[in-house]
Amino acid sequence: MSDVAQGEREQPGRLGRLGRLGRLGRHVHMPLGFLGAVREARAAGYDAVQVFPGNPKGWRHAPLAPEAAARVRAEARDLGVAPIVIHAPYIINVASDDDELTAKSARALINALERAGEIGARYVVVHAGSHKGKGEEYGIARVARLVEEVLPAAPPGVELLIENSAGAGNVLAGSPAALGRLLAALPARVGACVDTAHLWGGGSDLSGREGVERTFAELQAAVGLERVRVIHLNDSAVALGSRRDVHARLGEGAIGLPGLACWMTHPALHGHHTILETPLEEDPERETMRCAMTRLLLAGDMEGATTLLGDLRETAEGEGERKNG
Ligand SMILES: [Zn+2]
Ligand SMILES: [Zn+2]
Repeated sequence: MSDVAQGEREQPGRLGRLGRLGRLGRHVHMPLGFLGAVREARAAGYDAVQVFPGNPKGWRHAPLAPEAAARVRAEARDLGVAPIVIHAPYIINVASDDDELTAKSARALINALERAGEIGARYVVVHAGSHKGKGEEYGIARVARLVEEVLPAAPPGVELLIENSAGAGNVLAGSPAALGRLLAALPARVGACVDTAHLWGGGSDLSGREGVERTFAELQAAVGLERVRVIHLNDSAVALGSRRDVHARLGEGAIGLPGLACWMTHPALHGHHTILETPLEEDPERETMRCAMTRLLLAGDMEGATTLLGDLRETAEGEGERKNG
């Protein structure tokens, strides 16, 4: 368990803390702005939030006016939303063999770190990157060089996290072992973000207790669970080991509720923050139910979660009828 997580758990938000389980947040899309994202997450019942630093497909994200940044920080504090996680844009490739793309990626990552400093975000998550056929060793060396360049730009209190991938094509970190090899080449202050749907795509069977235990053992051996700061909790719409990454809502994908429940209640995860990156419900009331269901799962109430998921399915059908009518 990290000191970081320890500190955060001693500052519970208005809803109180999530037991020993760290906090529960969700990714909220940026048209709302940082302030809107914090409010939307809170309104649905989450006490953490993840955002892009601006347009996820854009390279440049302008600094926030100091007053705007201060408002985001104050609102997050007042609403008890912490941590804020910034997900760096997908167009970044930290392992690229192309010097121009590498330079753009470094600038964009520095940009994300700066936005994090402004709004009081604790973590910046970036994808592991693709070596484009040049080999893992080459890719890891490229990431190490880029990270060395951007890390001095990280404001105090902002941590850079590298996210595991589903291992498509030449993307690094496609398994716990591969994530470990990448992190071993980076400074110890660079942490990890682990996505359940990516693990699944990479071949880690999280559908039952045995596979979940094996995966935690692999993560512990390769990465060390104290280096994992944030969990991206997603079900997957694609097959185990498909090397593909399509997020599904919890209990509505191939991993399924029982496996996700094993994962979420596992003692190895105590103190880790959990962020949902599942499709956001359009209806705020339904999103509140999704949040409540996730909290039941975290609390080990599989029966309650299953009932709530059933309610969501039934009302979804009703909603569809209304829309058609
Ligand atoms: Zn991601
Ligand atoms: Zn993903």
